[in-house]
Amino acid sequence: MIIDGKAFAANLRESLAKDVQDHALTPGLAVILVGDDPASHVYVRNKITACEKTGIKSFEFKMPADSSKDDIAKVINDLNNDPHVHGILMQLPLPDHLSAAQEDLVQMIAPHKDVDGLTTVNAGKLILGHNDGLVPCTPQGSLMLIKSIKENLSGLHAVVIGRSNLFGKPMGQLLLGENCTVTQCHSRTKDLDKVCAQADIVVAAVGRPQMVKADWVKDGAIVIDVGINRTEDGKLVGDVDYEGVKDKAGAITPVPGGVGPMTIACLMKNTIEAAKKA
Ligand code: NAP
Repeated sequence: MIIDGKAFAANLRESLAKDVQDHALTPGLAVILVGDDPASHVYVRNKITACEKTGIKSFEFKMPADSSKDDIAKVINDLNNDPHVHGILMQLPLPDHLSAAQEDLVQMIAPHKDVDGLTTVNAGKLILGHNDGLVPCTPQGSLMLIKSIKENLSGLHAVVIGRSNLFGKPMGQLLLGENCTVTQCHSRTKDLDKVCAQADIVVAAVGRPQMVKADWVKDGAIVIDVGINRTEDGKLVGDVDYEGVKDKAGAITPVPGGVGPMTIACLMKNTIEAAKKA
């Protein structure tokens, strides 16, 4: 089965738009974009369009590439105190000269407005199993796609390749919360192919084009491909060798059209949740 993330995300956005109307909410999402990275501009544009379609008011803060840590901190502080803003998203990565400051700036976002789920408060709540935190969007959306195939994941062996704070670690925690047996893999994992071949669920978030091959995947496994890689001829591919794996997997997400659309839909979901709590 091909898991149609685009259709799933469209349905989710539709039900979120209805939720906004039914509760007469005016959720507000502020997006901070520093610098001129063309990919970041496209991502932000897509997020703002999705906001408008869902009934979320967006506030865009485009800041010059040479902004200082203090400049950005001031914007974050103002947004933390603005009652019209329920979610704050700082588009990452920040320009190179701010890379050392990036983590400090993320942690300045008020946890109840941290719709990316990256502050220590929200990461801690996820680890402790408190269900009132904001969960990072891409893992949250990936779990929804997995559960659209199989509602009860209890006892399944899930292999997550990648351990980033943005995706791998929260994904592992979410699967643990579903009572999976989770193996968290990374660049130092030995015999990765053999570890993967034992999995009922494989989630690949590495950033290496088509790394996961057919013989890494057990017959019937659910395969979630988070990777977004551009090949030399400009094609977008995931971390999974889709053509090879699709006939072996029980269900698989394509790239594009799998996990990607879920990220934005879950950003809308987190913003609406934050607005309801406010
Ligand atoms: P990241 O921070 O670069 O993390 C990559 C992870 O992969 C690290 O944990 C790294 O291990 C591991 N890794 C690298 N080479 C490996 C290898 N040969 N074998 C096993 N593990 C290896 O990346 P990320 O932010 O998690 O993103 C991963 C991918 O997902 C990227 O392609 C990104 O574009 C994509 N992504 C997509 C979405 C979406 O909306 N669809 C959202 C977020 C990310 P170490 O920790 O040991 O270095």
